[in-house]
Amino acid sequence: MSQPVLAVDIGGTKLAAALAGPTGSLHGVRRVATPPGGDAATLWETLTELIDAVLDGSRVAGVGVGCGGPMRWPEGVVSPLNMPGWRDFPLRAALAGRFPGVQVRVHNDAVCLAVAEHWRGAGRGSADMLGMVVSTGVGGGLILGGRLVHGGSGNAGHIGHVVVEPDGPLCGCGGRGCLEAIARGPGLTAWAMRQGWIPGGESAAGTVRPASYLEATAASGRQLALDAAAGDEIALAAMSRAGRALGVAIASAVNLCDLDLVTIGGGLSQAGPPLFEPLRAALGDHTRLEFARRVRVVPAALGQESGLVGAAALVLAADRY
Ligand SMILES: [Zn+2]
Repeated sequence: MSQPVLAVDIGGTKLAAALAGPTGSLHGVRRVATPPGGDAATLWETLTELIDAVLDGSRVAGVGVGCGGPMRWPEGVVSPLNMPGWRDFPLRAALAGRFPGVQVRVHNDAVCLAVAEHWRGAGRGSADMLGMVVSTGVGGGLILGGRLVHGGSGNAGHIGHVVVEPDGPLCGCGGRGCLEAIARGPGLTAWAMRQGWIPGGESAAGTVRPASYLEATAASGRQLALDAAAGDEIALAAMSRAGRALGVAIASAVNLCDLDLVTIGGGLSQAGPPLFEPLRAALGDHTRLEFARRVRVVPAALGQESGLVGAAALVLAADRY
């Protein structure tokens, strides 16, 4: 394959695109903010302008795209939760019209992150792994026998809705006690604030704040992780809560799928021991059989270009992904 592949990463805050060489090396990476509240035509126009700038006249051998879900797969008809302008938008067909005669593949963005870690990141050489992302949502992709498992609708590996507390908090999916309801960044910061966490400051445990304060303070999971690292007790308790939930969900996945590796990406994964120690403790509590105890849980190795690398792999290593 002498011509490069076009890799595209579509999310609610930014759109990114690049050309990828045969080994996944990226050239000409460009990013643009996702137009807030943009309608379908505006979003498409922004995307095609970005793509044209990256191509700069080059021809490509294929197009790989990661996009926020949900989507109809493999058709690539997308309705990203945080891009309301696209509802049942035929993204794959629209791109195929623009790139006639070459392969165009669209997959869930969390799946692309898992593929990237397996292909070029912390999961290289692993036969059976789950690549997770813990961010605004919790998602993942599943590799078994060295190949991506799609599932019937492209959603295999979506560990965010594995139940970890049957009587736990309501989840955005309509269920209760899902991993995502507990460990997603906004859910965790809201929990910490209800316990009296003051972002960036020492919390006074037991202080109850009015709802308006909670709404007005946009504190990120990253800040929570920083406060935990600095020893803030409530932030530490929040990390422990997320870590235990992750450990329970990962134990279930390991017992079900006989995994050797789990990678964790996203903002919360930078928290270090305050997250990973309770995670590993819960994982140990719930993986008692010999085969399950070999699993390793590690932070994702690739940075912000991970989504583009995974998108490129959909074309460059299509036999596996
Ligand atoms: Zn759920």
